Amino acid sequence: MHPWLCSVKPASPLGGFAWVKGSTIGVGSHGCVFKALDKTTGKIFAVKQGILDDGNGGGEDQKYRERLEAELTICKDLIHDNIVETLGFEYAENHLYIYLEYVPGGSMSKVLHEFGALNNNLLTNSTAGVLQGLNYLHTRDPPVVHRDIKGANILVSLDFTVKLSDFGCSKRSSVTTSFTTIGSIPWMAPEVIQQVDGYGRKADIWSLGCVVLEMATAEKPWGNGAFENVMAALRHISMTEEVPPIPASMDDAGRSFVRSCLKRNADERPMSWDLLSHSFVKDAISELGRTF
Ligand code: ATP
Repeated sequence: MHPWLCSVKPASPLGGFAWVKGSTIGVGSHGCVFKALDKTTGKIFAVKQGILDDGNGGGEDQKYRERLEAELTICKDLIHDNIVETLGFEYAENHLYIYLEYVPGGSMSKVLHEFGALNNNLLTNSTAGVLQGLNYLHTRDPPVVHRDIKGANILVSLDFTVKLSDFGCSKRSSVTTSFTTIGSIPWMAPEVIQQVDGYGRKADIWSLGCVVLEMATAEKPWGNGAFENVMAALRHISMTEEVPPIPASMDDAGRSFVRSCLKRNADERPMSWDLLSHSFVKDAISELGRTF
């Protein structure tokens, strides 16, 4: 076995398995994602392939790798209908392969691009799903903070179950030093941009409000083309008193839900479990049945 080859979930069907690479699903800032087939079980799954440094960075690379392993080990224990399951990971040469549950509908941002804004019924159901996934993360011990909630990181299954992906793992770069986070700026809470120490679950709640707006409009929160450039966006979100506009198409319950998520003062935002009983999602949650 290659020295960097290790499976975090030997009990899974993917422990010590052979697989065949399939077609590419998409490309993100950390690398590409492709389909794969487990040669023994026939199970189709997704592989996220990233490039790791070749080790010339010495101790820093080692620390990065250890942190990544620790986070992926946490991810593999997160089992919930609204969370993309992490099946395992391996290092080979200077590549990292993360094995994930395959979610055939693709990302919410692609769904919105293809089919347009969600009607109120789908908006309520998908908000309830995102909230339940988030509540599951936030109520782990210790809590898991997603840090990058946005339509591109919500996958949609064929029956429209929404699943959070891309949490925790390798999301440690600061806003100002990393280009990988630039695409996420419109969903970021003011305190994340201000780099207030110890921001956490409440920042995810702000992003949840932004995702609801994204799903209701098929536009970025704050609107497509709201900012001339990255600096203008950073300045506006962190330094003004404004919040993203709520479209007139949303009903009162939806507006109230979004408004409570988008309080500029993080202390005034509800926790995920407070939102479970909000009138906007309450019925959808009791129909879906599961809240943890
Ligand atoms: P970034 O990483 O820059 O934030 P991203 O989230 O779009 O962008 P990836 O997470 O690498 O990038 O995903 C790339 C593409 O692969 C996306 O279109 C996403 O929908 C798709 N994808 C990722 N994971 C899965 C999965 N488990 N099942 C199906 N499709 C997936």
